[in-house]
Amino acid sequence: MSRIAYVNGRYLPHGQAGVHIEDRGFQFADAVYEVCEVKDGLLVDEGRHLQRLTRSLSEIRMAEPRHPAALGAILREVVRRNRVRNGIVYLQVTRGVAPRNHPFPNPEVAPGLIVTARSINPAEGRERARTGIAVITTPDNRWERVDIKSVGLLPNVLAKQKAREAGAFEAWFIDENDYITEGSSTNAWIVTGEGVLVTRPADHSILRGVTRMVVLETAEDLGMTVEERPFTLAEVRAGREAFITASSTLVMPVVKVDGETLGDGLPGPVAIRLRSVFHDHADYGRNWASLTK
Ligand code: PLP
Repeated sequence: MSRIAYVNGRYLPHGQAGVHIEDRGFQFADAVYEVCEVKDGLLVDEGRHLQRLTRSLSEIRMAEPRHPAALGAILREVVRRNRVRNGIVYLQVTRGVAPRNHPFPNPEVAPGLIVTARSINPAEGRERARTGIAVITTPDNRWERVDIKSVGLLPNVLAKQKAREAGAFEAWFIDENDYITEGSSTNAWIVTGEGVLVTRPADHSILRGVTRMVVLETAEDLGMTVEERPFTLAEVRAGREAFITASSTLVMPVVKVDGETLGDGLPGPVAIRLRSVFHDHADYGRNWASLTK
């Protein structure tokens, strides 16, 4: 079956879908994006993803290209046309096409909007979660507004590649004070020796992961003790368990950091539990309109 992409108002065969060479997303990474999980053909946490998109756009001083309800309809249409049962849907909004010049186009031009979707076999994630993943650490060399979901991801790309070359799944960024910020495309968590679940506060130094938010709520519902504070690599090593979260990985246990096995080297019970109940807590199958009524 051929894949279909949405580009600026048209649904096109994926191979023929393209953007203008002077699109500012392409020229300057002057664009923001979202990635939403698709489960059983339904979008997971569509409302929160579109709310975060609105925030990212406002931080880069752009208006929404469409009403969030209309964006939700496009996301669902791309999922439908690609017959994605399980996978991800990707949306990017750019500041549009204009002669290459750093300042915002004046007068304003129409924003660019693309949406793609692809299937992912859920068995792959399940298998990865069964064994747990390895992470490496690397200095956080990103700009100080990584809470904006910008497509300027070169440090993340280089960090992820470094991880893969080291035989690891993810790279954790470490800030100048030796605290872990987050992964190259995931948020980072530990369970301390006392059983406290810890993740870094959602300030400007991490992306406000939608999965992170749902896991925080889930953990509180389950009566777990949660602290939002920075943590160090030493605390990871001394802790009971560690895991990462993202729409593309869900809750994924970490069993090795920088080549050193954590604890008994097996996925921890907190990560396993949070992963197993995650979709009961996510807004699964409800669209933007029903969430904002
Ligand atoms: N942190 C970074 C840098 C990311 O790129 C992502 C997802 O792409 C996340 C965290 C996790 O965010 P979410 O749970 O919304 O997928």
